[in-house]
Amino acid sequence: MLVTLSIFNPAKISRDNYRLYVALDYLCYLGFGAHALFVPLFFWIGIPELAIFNIFSVLLWVLAYFLNRAAHHREAIIITIVESVVHAALATYFLGWESGFHYYFLPVILFLFINHRQNIFIIIFEAILIFSAYVGLLIYTHQVDYVSLAPTTVVNSLQYINIAVNFSAFGILGYFFRIASTQAEQQMELLATTDTLTGLFNRRKMHESIDQEVVRYQRDKKSFLLVITDIDHFKKFNDNYGHDCGDYVLQQVSTLMKESLRQQDVVARWGGEEFLIMLPETELEGGVQAIEKLRETLANTVYQYEDNTFSVTMTFGVTAYDGSCDVEACIKHADEVLYAGKRGGRNRVVSTLIS
Ligand code: GH3
Ligand code: MG
Ligand code: MG
Repeated sequence: MLVTLSIFNPAKISRDNYRLYVALDYLCYLGFGAHALFVPLFFWIGIPELAIFNIFSVLLWVLAYFLNRAAHHREAIIITIVESVVHAALATYFLGWESGFHYYFLPVILFLFINHRQNIFIIIFEAILIFSAYVGLLIYTHQVDYVSLAPTTVVNSLQYINIAVNFSAFGILGYFFRIASTQAEQQMELLATTDTLTGLFNRRKMHESIDQEVVRYQRDKKSFLLVITDIDHFKKFNDNYGHDCGDYVLQQVSTLMKESLRQQDVVARWGGEEFLIMLPETELEGGVQAIEKLRETLANTVYQYEDNTFSVTMTFGVTAYDGSCDVEACIKHADEVLYAGKRGGRNRVVSTLIS
């Protein structure tokens, strides 16, 4: 199952910018919240200049939030980064190093790197600039004649608030990276194992499933079935109603096969309009009956595509894996009986037992 982010996801946000959008969205809540908290705090401790500056900061974070949601990520990033750096620099300059406002420089560096649209050399250049400002402030605020705008007790209390906010910022960024990488892994796994048109397993995944079944066979010697099936006269759907209709048929047939078989049965798209079905722990006779039922269900289903109504039949070639030959030979054998079925008139199940 895919991890989904439970936040508003406007259709405007392109897939490509989604990670950036999510990171910024979370950060805007924090930026907005932290600055809103500082407004009454600065009034209370008697530094109205900084309180007013914070009102502007709150407005900037709100603006960045809406810009981000309107898919103007670049502008939103510039606002948040410039706001964070300038604000941190000014507050450190006026209140001193011990106030802890310099901590805000640090998550900015991490955030710079999230912006995958930005050239890496520009990011490094920006990071060096921020580093220089950071060191500059450290040197300046540790000069012998430096005087803070606020009393020592206030400065010390501010430090704790700033530490808490910055820990949260790192937590948010870390959490976001975790979700982004989990999602990427899951999507890669999905892409590597499924057929995009039908959503069925692809060849690679089917081979994995068969290998597992062979291991199980070696343990308890219960046979499993391999069934190759192919849509009859599939070309006519493409030729008569268009390629999209052909795709529609492939999707419908795939869904129907998955729904009609047992949960443990595996269906894969093996080629264009050819599928491989594996029925684990099944004897040939019982399996042929199950496939016969599937064939009937498929043949009795009526499809509607645009103004056209039609039904689809399929031919099946069934073999049992019982250790007497390898998997490849088994599949080849199923393919041979399938073509015997095609020659015999299609819409039928042919097995090594019956043929
Ligand atoms: P038969 O009963 O002997 O199987 O005849 P058929 O027409 O089904 O078989 P044939 O192999 O002649 O044609 C298969 C066609 O399937 C040819 C190919 O263009 C089409 N095809 C393969 N993959 C896709 C696909 O993903 N989408 C669509 N729409 N057509 C596909
Ligand atoms: Mg065919
Ligand atoms: Mg074919």
